[in-house]
Amino acid sequence: MLAAQNIHKSFGDHHVLKGASLSVQRGEVVTLIGASGSGKSTFLRCLNLLETPQQGELAIGAHRFKFGTGLRAPDDAKLAALRQNVGMVFQHFNLFPHMTVLGNLTEGPVQVKGMSKPDAEALGRDLLAKVGLADKADAYPSRLSGGQKQRVAIARALAMKPDVMLFDEPTSALDPELVGEVLAVIRSLAAEGMTMVLVTHEMSFAADVSSRVGFMNDGVMAETGTAEEIIRKPSSERLKAFLSRFH
Ligand code: ATP
Ligand code: MG
Repeated sequence: MLAAQNIHKSFGDHHVLKGASLSVQRGEVVTLIGASGSGKSTFLRCLNLLETPQQGELAIGAHRFKFGTGLRAPDDAKLAALRQNVGMVFQHFNLFPHMTVLGNLTEGPVQVKGMSKPDAEALGRDLLAKVGLADKADAYPSRLSGGQKQRVAIARALAMKPDVMLFDEPTSALDPELVGEVLAVIRSLAAEGMTMVLVTHEMSFAADVSSRVGFMNDGVMAETGTAEEIIRKPSSERLKAFLSRFH
């Protein structure tokens, strides 16, 4: 479903990703953990090409990209096709403030996919029901709690019918009492078999929901394994040291 190989990304002379790799099978939930600055967000942004790697290979479904000196950058049409197929949810919800909740959900399907407005609205209402916000279709984002905004952001990403969903710390901007409602939505997507890559500091949630866990350290995927191997019973000293901060 998704394979990223040997991804390198530098900002100026700061070499952030130093050959990071990850493969994800259809229906897997892979969580990425690691210290601040280890490159988790940069790696996730490379997976939908919000950042362009300088080197490496990326395959998501039928979309294939190869990066390296002398190779041509992918054209806009190819990038747009990939991004339609990969939904992303950020720490800060980035909803369109001047549109209603339903407007936020129909914008992509209508503008990008050419779906009819009635079809997009029907889809949007289904997705709002799924994230528990059927009654908020006509509200503006400013009237929602953080947890509700994040659930709208998830529904908006789902409206594009992506094959893969990427989540970058979707609950870390939320008040503690609002975290659970967002995790519950992610958990229900996992149960439905949605393929997901999730960066989180919620270790018990990660241990629970993950098919596999990747530990990023200094720009590489230093260790990957089951939640048991990586989170519950880590064997390496650096992983133990990292996880000890969460107890
Ligand atoms: P955190 O847990 O704090 O979110 P992270 O693992 O997600 O950390 P990244 O955000 O990927 O880390 O950042 C890795 C490094 O890359 C950091 O040193 C950061 O300052 C740098 N970096 C990220 N994006 C940019 C950018 N657009 N321009 C310059 N430097 C960047
Ligand atoms: Mg980050």
